[in-house]
Amino acid sequence: MINLLEDLKQEYDLTLVLIAHDLAVIRHMSDRVAVMYLGEIVEEGDTAALYDAPFHPYTQALMRAIPIPSPRARKAAVKLDGDVPSPLSPPSGCRFHTRCPLADERCAVERPVLQDVASGRRVACHYWQRVAEEETAALAEPEASQAARRRLSLYRDRSERQQNSVPQSEP
Ligand code: SF4
Repeated sequence: MINLLEDLKQEYDLTLVLIAHDLAVIRHMSDRVAVMYLGEIVEEGDTAALYDAPFHPYTQALMRAIPIPSPRARKAAVKLDGDVPSPLSPPSGCRFHTRCPLADERCAVERPVLQDVASGRRVACHYWQRVAEEETAALAEPEASQAARRRLSLYRDRSERQQNSVPQSEP
């Protein structure tokens, strides 16, 4: 299916909207990514830049949950407490505030708007700068850069396996 979509995209110069939970497939297929939480876009941007340095706490938690086959290259995981609330009765303010490690009183009452924060990047978070500074600094570290390269390599490996539909053991 992925190969078919890729072929159609190339042949007809199509723009496709792909909705998926598989981060490897999204990384492989997409030029731009929109991350959603409880039905709302919380971050949007260029795929490679967003995967390497997320600016929203939820995106950061997603990216840091991806296994990297090197203890030295691994960034600290972001622990999310609690369950995902019902989208039929979402939390007040920021919908992510009941699980966000950065949440404070403001987050519980004031809904963050999706704002342009950098070239091609939009984020809905009152404190996105904290995450951006942390991730940008981490990316400048030699080991973090190595982590980013390993992560991209891992995505490519997984995507190729999925395309070929050949079961293989994990590295
Ligand atoms: S607005 Fe507050 S609760 Fe929402 S993602 Fe940002 S820091 Fe977390």
